[in-house]
Amino acid sequence: MIYSLKDVCKSYGTRNGAVRALEGLTFDVQKGERVALLGPSGAGKTTLFRLFNATLRPSSGGLRFDGRDLTVMSGRDLRSTRRRIGTIYQQPHLVPSLSALQNTLCGRLGSWSLIHTVRNIVRPNQSDNKQAIAALESVGLADKQNARADELSGGQQQRLTIARVLMQDPEVILADEPFASLDPALTETVGLLLINLVTNGKRTLVATMHDVELAVRLFPRIIGIRHGHIVFDKPAVRVDHEAIRALYAGEQVTNAARLDSENWPEAAKNESSREPSCAR
Ligand code: ADP
Repeated sequence: MIYSLKDVCKSYGTRNGAVRALEGLTFDVQKGERVALLGPSGAGKTTLFRLFNATLRPSSGGLRFDGRDLTVMSGRDLRSTRRRIGTIYQQPHLVPSLSALQNTLCGRLGSWSLIHTVRNIVRPNQSDNKQAIAALESVGLADKQNARADELSGGQQQRLTIARVLMQDPEVILADEPFASLDPALTETVGLLLINLVTNGKRTLVATMHDVELAVRLFPRIIGIRHGHIVFDKPAVRVDHEAIRALYAGEQVTNAARLDSENWPEAAKNESSREPSCAR
């Protein structure tokens, strides 16, 4: 098991008192699982995501990563745990003036000393270079290795962030709405690419998603969160209209059109039983 949560609560102190973001969350994530977190804005998805990448601690409850207690971890232990977890954010956070190859090499920053970093970004050693090129190849960007990040299209930049995470070679990939800034065609391509890389590498993937239909299609397990509580935690094939309506009751659903499709539950079942293939 990679994550284990027992009665996790998280509150934020504000001038107007405490805001309870998560209340009594108990569940496990197994190694190699693909899990999508769904829920309306303010549900607590980002907070949970930040507990997972160890940039926040629970206010109470137990949180373990690969059997180790994250709530008390600090210093070197915490840094080495964070290196095992790669995060992909909605916005690519690339260094615009560096090449695609140099940005990919940045995936290693967490494990390099400052001197090694400066030397390696300017003149990478052969084995790091080879690995970075392999990462770029696997996201279909080998021919762009010398292009500056700011010369790449939106879809290419998002693929570059995946190459950077691959260079980090984490056991867990956390993706915060990774497709939010992409158009539908690119979403499909980048989505399948990400899923494929995780499946091949036996990595765990946890992603917050705003697109319900895509989440159900790409992720075998869906956790619905609302007002800091888990509303449902079930296999994607068992997520139906009722569950989604209850999750987003009274809220705006971004992908509402798809939810109203009469075929949706059946289509989702057919799609999610299929192993994804990479269509670049
Ligand atoms: P989501 O990602 O699902 O939109 P969040 O985890 O960002 O939800 O927020 C959950 C709740 O916690 C919301 O009520 C939000 O206003 C509150 N919250 C999040 N971050 C902070 C913070 N830094 N300080 C105070 N309240 C916060």
